[in-house]
Amino acid sequence: MCQARVVPQQDADQERANELLARVLAGTPEGENPVTHVRTLPARPARCVPWPSWVPEAVARRFGECGVAQPWSHQAEAADHAWHGRHVILSTGTASGKSLAYQLPVLSLLTQQPKRTALYLSPTKALGNDQLRAAAALELTGVRAATFDGDTPLEERDWVRAHANWVFTNPDMLHHGLLAAHARWARFFQRLAYVVVDECHSYRGVFGSHVALLLRRLRRVAARYGANPTFVLASATIAEPAEFARRLAGLGCVPVVDDGSPRGPRTIALWEPPLLREITGENGAPIRRSAGAEAARIMADLVIEGARTLAFVRSRRGAELASVSARRMVAEVDPALSKRAAAYRAGYLPEDRRKLEAALMSGELLAVASTNALELGVDISGLDAVLVAGYPGTRASFWQQAGRAGRTAEEAALVVFIAKDDPLDTYLVHHPEVMLDQPVEAAVLDPANPYVLAPQLACAAAELPLRAEDLPIFGEAAARDVVDELVADGVLRRRPSGWYWTGRDRPHHEVSIRGSGGEQVAVVESETARLLGTVDPSAACATVHPGAVYYHQGETYVVDELDFDERLALVHAEEPEWTTSPRDVIDIEVLQTDEKAVYGGVTVCLGRVAVTSQVVSYLRRLPSGEVLDQTPLDLPAQTLHTRAVWYTISDALLCGREPGGAGLEPARVPGSLHAAEHAAIGLLPLFATCDRWDIGGVSTALHADTGEATVFVHDGHPGGAGFAERGHAALVPWLAATREAIVSCECSTGCPSCVQSPKCGNGNEPLDKAGAVAVLDTVLGAISRADRGEGTRGESAHHGRR
Ligand SMILES: [Zn+2]
Ligand SMILES: [Zn+2]
Repeated sequence: MCQARVVPQQDADQERANELLARVLAGTPEGENPVTHVRTLPARPARCVPWPSWVPEAVARRFGECGVAQPWSHQAEAADHAWHGRHVILSTGTASGKSLAYQLPVLSLLTQQPKRTALYLSPTKALGNDQLRAAAALELTGVRAATFDGDTPLEERDWVRAHANWVFTNPDMLHHGLLAAHARWARFFQRLAYVVVDECHSYRGVFGSHVALLLRRLRRVAARYGANPTFVLASATIAEPAEFARRLAGLGCVPVVDDGSPRGPRTIALWEPPLLREITGENGAPIRRSAGAEAARIMADLVIEGARTLAFVRSRRGAELASVSARRMVAEVDPALSKRAAAYRAGYLPEDRRKLEAALMSGELLAVASTNALELGVDISGLDAVLVAGYPGTRASFWQQAGRAGRTAEEAALVVFIAKDDPLDTYLVHHPEVMLDQPVEAAVLDPANPYVLAPQLACAAAELPLRAEDLPIFGEAAARDVVDELVADGVLRRRPSGWYWTGRDRPHHEVSIRGSGGEQVAVVESETARLLGTVDPSAACATVHPGAVYYHQGETYVVDELDFDERLALVHAEEPEWTTSPRDVIDIEVLQTDEKAVYGGVTVCLGRVAVTSQVVSYLRRLPSGEVLDQTPLDLPAQTLHTRAVWYTISDALLCGREPGGAGLEPARVPGSLHAAEHAAIGLLPLFATCDRWDIGGVSTALHADTGEATVFVHDGHPGGAGFAERGHAALVPWLAATREAIVSCECSTGCPSCVQSPKCGNGNEPLDKAGAVAVLDTVLGAISRADRGEGTRGESAHHGRR
């Protein structure tokens, strides 16, 4: 099947982008049409406004000298709210100058009242350093800005505590360094006027839930020292920013979303790599050329065209591979040009990174492949072309990456989204309206998760005894339950004045805010005894089992030994050409049903489950998708208590001849449910802002707890992170999109683009593609018949602890 090539509409200022796209298309083999959609986005003019009247002359002059003659409207609007003490969330696109919005109030205050203080938080050290440098470069009198993170030398730390009035740090250091030892920071907290939370959209899932509680701890400690700081949140464009700010900071924030920054015109192309003819994957399934390989080819064409290009590739190794092969392809045409493509690695020193960024901005370097926007400097924008190889997980991140393209000048820039071989990407390139027209998603986090709340409340109580009036800021009812449990466990002691931490040492070092609880497994390089990182105990068997390939800051290691009791994984440096994927056996038990709706023979539920899994072997796989071998493993079973959404289907509907039923032979049921489960997991990230690795699923033709054929999709973290809830709330559009993704895949019996899963514990067997469509039609049909009034029974909050 070969559809006509989509020809972009002609427009004077789109010419350059169209030329680039034509050039890139010319490189695809005869008879292939990878472009599924082309969209042109018009330019947006700048809206500048005068400096707010409260900005001191000296501050406005310095910004003027640094090239900012006037602020854009959204910068002034957000700054004005902050200056007048109103908490604010600024949610605008990439390169819209969000920094100025918080620099203005903070610098205006500190130049006039150098004794006041401000705190800046960023999710990564690199971004914090960039922001510190930008603030320090203004050299304003009275401003003493400094970083305080894991790299700050001990002798400098005393100076920062005693003298700095603008401290740049991250959530980890706020937790371990500032709050755990708040008495040493008394001066700083007493005078705290502003808290800046930058790139706050990245606080999602379990990490986001921890940060939400960390910000509440910060507010409580500041209040104890008499300070009530104004919060300034800066975010990429997200849906419902005010609601997100309320969940994250626990505060009412004024949303500022009307972007006044200019933007050049852009052409966006959606690209689906063709199926490979020569290689097949698991169970003989057809596979597509990888998104990274396709990005390398396109990058090479763009370098030859002289276009400054940034390619976002999903893995660090993928970024390296893409730039190496792009160089090789360029060298065949023009050896002198080939040096102008490079890979960006997180392990680079800040100086190297800045050099690379400057070279790309100046055009000395034409192409860079990188893993994600947060690793890059804030100043990279206005490029000729951006390639996004593989969906970055959210529309918000996609637009953020695409935002690096587009000069303010007349010439249009090109953005190419290249689908990787999975159901979500397949769905998106065939549904441009979902990718390009729907609002960006809200970030999902759940500060009421008891697995996050318990350690956070223990830390809070160790910082300052908890009083009854503190509970509302931590989420009244949920906090009360958790505090009672902590008392029962002897972690806290109840006294008339409140709850007290009973331990001698503070609990902070045992609480990993980036993990999901439990004692972390340390990953150590045997030869050097160097600690490379830590892994959640719940994920250790799957990620650091013996033989597993482990990635750390662009370097590759292979695991020699996992000692579960000692919480230790020993690794050595090695760069094998394969990747590994674990195989496991899973069992799921329903502990409590919170929501239940019956639609004829279909029942949909939300509740608590226990997922027991045991990693039993692993596969070695080449980048082409080819499987080398399978190695058995002897590891303990793990039980995860979390939340799940599930649906059940009666036998009559599944196998009988009932109207609206699936009419499946009993032998086809397991494969049909399994395929429907895989595809649904692949599509949930579209509705729940999670990664498919954050969730899991189980399907069974007869489940002991439900008594029927059941498909479960569960959160991958203890206590859940809100993903199952989102799936439950969006069940119909989610399952409809799942069905669409399967139907629109051109393979005949299932492939990685539709029903195969890279993390399947059963080796992607059995899978029945047509049966999955029948199952989804049956479920959606039953719900829609019931919604039309043919009878439902909702049993909300049907609590039954087993
Ligand atoms: Zn397929
Ligand atoms: Zn599976």
